[in-house]
Order: sequence, then structure tokens, then C-alpha cells
Amino acid sequence: MAVVFEKGTVIIGNGEVLEKGTVAVEGKLLKFVGTGKNYPVSKKDKVFDLSGKTILPGLIDAHVHLCVDGSPDPITLLLRESIPQTTLKAADHARQTLEAGVTTVRDMGGKDYIDLAIRDGIESGVLQGPRMLCSGKLICMTGGHGWQFGREANGVDDVRAAVREQLKAGADLIKLMATGGIMTKGVDPGSTQFTLEELIAGVEEARKAGRRTATHAQGTEGIKNALWAGIHSIEHGFFLDDEAIELILQMKVFVVPTLCAPYHIIRAGVQKGVPAFVVEKSKSVMKSHWESVKKAHRARVPIAMGTDAGTPFNRHGENLKEMELLVHVGLTPMEAIVATTKTASEVLGMGDKIGTLEKGKLADLVVVDGDPLKDITLFQKKEKILTIMKEGQCYKCTF
Ligand SMILES: [Zn+2]
Repeated sequence: MAVVFEKGTVIIGNGEVLEKGTVAVEGKLLKFVGTGKNYPVSKKDKVFDLSGKTILPGLIDAHVHLCVDGSPDPITLLLRESIPQTTLKAADHARQTLEAGVTTVRDMGGKDYIDLAIRDGIESGVLQGPRMLCSGKLICMTGGHGWQFGREANGVDDVRAAVREQLKAGADLIKLMATGGIMTKGVDPGSTQFTLEELIAGVEEARKAGRRTATHAQGTEGIKNALWAGIHSIEHGFFLDDEAIELILQMKVFVVPTLCAPYHIIRAGVQKGVPAFVVEKSKSVMKSHWESVKKAHRARVPIAMGTDAGTPFNRHGENLKEMELLVHVGLTPMEAIVATTKTASEVLGMGDKIGTLEKGKLADLVVVDGDPLKDITLFQKKEKILTIMKEGQCYKCTF
């Protein structure tokens, strides 16, 4: 028995669209994606008429922090919570994320390996949430960005040890902090943190174990250090100059802009309880951040959707706001969708399994009421997301 969605607009995820297309799901996999009468519907099949609706691949957020709750001062709160408290909240964040239509996330820094436990809970069916790829603890220099819940490491040998610890704990990827950032007091986003040698050691240690590396990199020098070290993705990329963009293109690296992070902080401001240093730093980078993403987009840098969900007012379950912001900085709605599907799957190294609607891939999909190419904010309206399916299992089905 197959589940068949027919007569809808099919957005494949790679830029292509099929009008009046059919998507058939059997078990965990996509059995058919095409148009017309090529698909022989059998009597046993469950058929849904998608006239006026759009079907897309399950959406992917390439940068979240499920342990961090999106409250006005979330890091202070995180440090006050017990491990069980954070774990319960993270499980709830996972559910909210899936209910938004996000079927896969990459968690870019958890606390006490809670992210890994949530991932395993989802995989085993104990919890409901998106498929997760997790970094375990982010790795930073002593007092560097994220030290509050990351693994501090200094020097080449210690960075290797820190990477090995994350691998031993079961991390899917490794996150290395190349520069300062916004949420850590007294740390400048433009400043360089890990040295080139430390980054090379971290990347090499991950590569030996077949894992990818991502870097929190905002300042220009730190971005270049990470690129020279062979990193797979640049997170944030506030200060991208021409040389950095050239290197990104040459080395086939992805940029995950996380426009939502400074946007929500500035919008809420100190009035809503965001610490003043967080607001000030966000204001100081926002213009350059948006310019950097515009420049990267014009240069055809592969951009993947990532929100940094968990930072102030950047709430889990509201991830798809980022698609609207990507359109604001110049991506077309179709490009924003590709960033949230195909390109994001490639950042995760899962391009062969998810990210596009293609026969044989995992049946991760969403159905929305209307045409998101005409209105990218459609994704933010819960009532417009009619179906959410992950690996053939329906989490929402409204018809
Ligand atoms: Zn982050």
C-alpha cells in the first residue's frame, strides 16, 4: 500500500517544479515522483488530492541549539537549570520544531550531551522530533565564545583531545569556534579565537573519523583561518570580504547565515530583557552581516538555511522565519526553498537521502496550502502546513 499525493504543485527542492504532479510514498521511502498518469494507483493506495496545494521536501534547519530556549537571556538561564530540566525542555523544543515542518536539524552545540540523548530518543521513537545531527559540545578556547557550555581547549593536542571526546560521546559532527560572538560577554564577534594550527588539528581529527566540521566564524581573519583549515561550513559569516568569498567558492564550503539571530535580538531589545551587551553587539554587526550574505549570494556561494534557534526570541518552531529573511537579502523564494532543502541536506552530508523529492530517498515531506513561491511567509502559518511526514510517518495530516 502506498500513500499517493496527486494533482499538486511539486517543488522538488533542486529548483524544479512539477505542475499537477504525483508523489507516492511506500514505507519509509519515496516510491514515485512525477507527472501525469505514469503512476498506477492501486485500490489499496491511500490517495490525497493536492489541487491548489504544494508539496515539498521536509524542511531542514542547519543550525539550531535545542538545549537553549529562546528566552531573553537564555545562556544565563541554561546555566541555572539542572540537566533534567534542560533535557525536558530540549525534548519539547524538538517536538515544536517538527510541528513547524522541519524534519531534520543540525544541532550546533548542546550542554552535557543532552543533544545526543534527544537525538537518540527521537531515533528510537521515544520522542517526537526532527532527525538530528549533533555536534555534542562546541569546542572553544578558554574564555572563548560559548565557553559557558562548550569544551574549552587550548593548543593543538588539547583540541585533538576535545574532538576525540565529542566523537566518543557520539557526535555526528564537530563544531570549532574560530571567532568571538554575540552571546558571550566581553568577547568581540570580529576577534580571532582558535589559531590556524588549532583549527587544522580539529578538522583533521574529525576527518579521520569521517565527520564533518562546522565553524562559528564571524570576523574575517577567523573565517579565513577556518577555510584554510578545511572546514565544511561557515556559520554566521558576518564579515565576509572578497578573498573569503573566493576561498569559500574554491573550497566548496557552505555558508549558513543565521539571519534570525541578530534580527530577533535587535527587534526585542533591552526592553524585553535581552542583555545590553547582546543588543549592542548585534546592532554593530547587522549591517555588515546582511551585506556579507548579499555579496555571497551574488557570488553564487551555496547558502543553507540555519536559524541559530534558541538565541533570544529566536524560538524553536518558528524556524521558517529565516526563509523570509533570506528573501529580504535577495534570494528568490525558490532559492530560499532550495537553501532549506537541497543545500541544507548537502551541508549535513545527507544529500543522497533527504533534501529533494526523488524516488528512493527518505519520505520526508510537507504539504502547504497555497503557493510558497508567491508568499514565502506561508511557512510561518501553522494552519497552512497541512501535512508533515518524516520517513514515511505522518506527524500531521489535515485534509
Ligand atoms: Zn549557534
